[in-house]
Amino acid sequence: MNQGILILHPENIDSYAGVQQATQLLLHDGLIGSAIDGMQNSYSAGGNFLQLITFMGCSPHIRFEPEDERDKAYCYITLTACETLQIRVSEHARPPRCCACKKPVGKGWKTAVLQGELITCPHCHHQQQPDQLSWRNDSGMGRFFIEIHNIFPGEAQPVPRLMQQLQSIDAHPWRYFYLHSPG
Ligand SMILES: [Zn+2]
Repeated sequence: MNQGILILHPENIDSYAGVQQATQLLLHDGLIGSAIDGMQNSYSAGGNFLQLITFMGCSPHIRFEPEDERDKAYCYITLTACETLQIRVSEHARPPRCCACKKPVGKGWKTAVLQGELITCPHCHHQQQPDQLSWRNDSGMGRFFIEIHNIFPGEAQPVPRLMQQLQSIDAHPWRYFYLHSPG
């Protein structure tokens, strides 16, 4: 059972940030440490993890080491690059909002996005590209994700300095959200 995933990704949905470039940056920053055997592009938390990810509350009950070989309920980081556009949506996520009227875009938005169509707002009928939507903090979309596993939604957030450094990878701003109950 994964408690939740904190996901950082470029706002530009067409950005295909390089895994190698991102890995080097994150290793240099100390967000990630050693590679985890048998898990592709996955790393244990690095020496500066707690300087780059701020936890709410004074003593986070966070575990950085697995208890045994099968344990996946500890905090580790995975870099994922996909050739096709991915929508990551939490269980019971609320739909994103229209960029014009700020009302939820309704149920058909995922189908429209996956078919490469514009999203038409059911309230004001404004048509928009998926990356113009106002995303909430429980979903996102893109081709490249930095996943920080076993973070309770809202429990931790990246410091602004890390988000700025990530911007150097592809010259676009990054955002983050929480994936609830990913299974
Ligand atoms: Zn609207």
